[in-house]
Amino acid sequence: MTKPAKRTRTIELSQIRKMFEITNPNAINLGIGEPDFNVPENIKKAMIQSINDNDTHYTPNKGYIELREEIVKKFKKDNGIKTDPENIIVTVGASEALYMCAQAFIEKGDEVILPNPSFLSYEACINLADGKITPVNCKMENEFKLKASDVEEKINKNTKAIILNSPSNPTGAVMEKEDIKSIADLSMDNDFLIISDEIYEKIIYDKKHYSPAKWSDNVITLNGFSKTYAMTGLRIGYLNANEELCEELLKIHQYNIACATTTSQRGALEALRGPQDEVEKMIAEFKKRRNLIVKRLNEMGYETVNAEGAFYVFPKIEDENFVQNAAKAGVITVPGAAFGSNGKGHVRMSYANSYENIKKAMNILEEIIPNGRN
Ligand code: PMP
Repeated sequence: MTKPAKRTRTIELSQIRKMFEITNPNAINLGIGEPDFNVPENIKKAMIQSINDNDTHYTPNKGYIELREEIVKKFKKDNGIKTDPENIIVTVGASEALYMCAQAFIEKGDEVILPNPSFLSYEACINLADGKITPVNCKMENEFKLKASDVEEKINKNTKAIILNSPSNPTGAVMEKEDIKSIADLSMDNDFLIISDEIYEKIIYDKKHYSPAKWSDNVITLNGFSKTYAMTGLRIGYLNANEELCEELLKIHQYNIACATTTSQRGALEALRGPQDEVEKMIAEFKKRRNLIVKRLNEMGYETVNAEGAFYVFPKIEDENFVQNAAKAGVITVPGAAFGSNGKGHVRMSYANSYENIKKAMNILEEIIPNGRN
């Protein structure tokens, strides 16, 4: 076989994906990271219309101007960020935006501060760019919220960037305003970049989301339509960054992707312009499920934080055979260690599954609890 480049040899394919491929199709899946809802009808209509209008040609590299204008309005309204369509790049999911950040700014010798545990792609993207990871533990005693004081201890002259993800995958933690603001201040004082992945921004309960770009110019804000509008397969996201940062990011996007898909861009435009009641319904439903899953797990004796956002809980489950036993019994979950060393002794459960299925899954888990736990 042709020898792969060193950069690809050093990373592995996602174990989570592999696990889904081999497991029983009848099992209840609490492993998956995507909403179980469908794309709202108004968005589907806009996409169908765009195809019928032969809206299938290349768009500007940064994306349709109408869409970027709408994203600018969204940043102002939701995040208090003043920006300009020229500072927005529409991407193929937040995934592409993340990869662009790493390729454009990280190189050998650079250290990237990474919450531990965190989303799998962060580590892979940093490794592909030859960067070095500096982990910061998100402690259960702090409800897994990343603390500015813990970040500050890790900063040195090689610190090039930090990745923030609030609400978080895999813990559901929502960072406190003062920590976000302090990290924003640190980024200005120490001249490092904040890559702020805000993809779960809207999936948040009784809590306000804050963007570090409100307080620092050294921020690339990533967002997308996958979670808020259940548009995962349509692969559409965006980023916002200042003019100089944007120019470098565009080089990676331009020579890799050229532009995001026209149909998805039209869907995204409708998502922002159209009614938001489907989003509100979805969040209300997620909250009901979160309440159920947290209550049931705690009743089983598995300490579980009442996560304030995203659609994950991260109970403390030290039994090393739990994930395997649960899968055999018909419930798919993900070992916490997959998200970093600090995830060991925890299991990630996604509640992007129906209320009824979550109830059934909890009944199954209750059956397989090792004797003596309760
Ligand atoms: N960031 C986080 C934290 C995620 O969980 C995901 C999807 N699982 C992404 C980014 C990627 O999202 P997209 O579908 O927009 O590429």
